[in-house]
Amino acid sequence: MSPYQNIKIKCPKCGQVGNMSVLPSLNTALNPELKEKVISKEAFEYTCPGCLTKNHLNYTFLYHDPSRKLMIQFVAGDDKAWVKAVNEFRQMPYSTRDPLRANKYCVRAVRSQNQLTEKIQIFDAGLDDRVIEILKLVMLANSFKGRLLKKPDHAFFYKDTDGSNNIIFFKKEESMGALKVTPEQIAAVEKDYAAALQDTMPGELQVIDSLWAAAAIKQCRKAD
Ligand SMILES: [Zn+2]
Repeated sequence: MSPYQNIKIKCPKCGQVGNMSVLPSLNTALNPELKEKVISKEAFEYTCPGCLTKNHLNYTFLYHDPSRKLMIQFVAGDDKAWVKAVNEFRQMPYSTRDPLRANKYCVRAVRSQNQLTEKIQIFDAGLDDRVIEILKLVMLANSFKGRLLKKPDHAFFYKDTDGSNNIIFFKKEESMGALKVTPEQIAAVEKDYAAALQDTMPGELQVIDSLWAAAAIKQCRKAD
């Protein structure tokens, strides 16, 4: 069965109504061929047949990789939509949640397509997104100290074409450079922040972002 749904869409530029195939969810076991389109975000693009403008669409999307026991819910919309979606997920009937718990699923919710594609790449690299979020903050605090005029305000993990794991730093939308992630750095975070990395809620939806990482770092420093 095709995971696509057809909708009518009006081009914001020329107003022509066209048909778009939207992908509300992807199960990578059923449609592995669509995964790259999600990572490149091509799956969320619509080209107007009238003026050929490429429109990028933001809509709520569920990513499910059964082989990695991974589920990522991307929630489009404002704060209200976010809170509602997270609550709905957490209040799902037990019959739906039990398999996730029993299989110790990793369940995440994210607020942007960038975070979605970042998480997919982190898990595909066999890494723990909690370790990467902590590492990003550690790198932001240490590696750039005094070396840059402008301090980056956020960072994303990405896998380079040469297969290396990297974290790229941004100030607003401007790239400030990338640093390679080494196995030694991963091991150091796993050791230093072990207390924050115990999974006490397998199968439950967790929001793992920079706020989570800041709280985890604080918790571990306090315990020292
Ligand atoms: Zn158009």
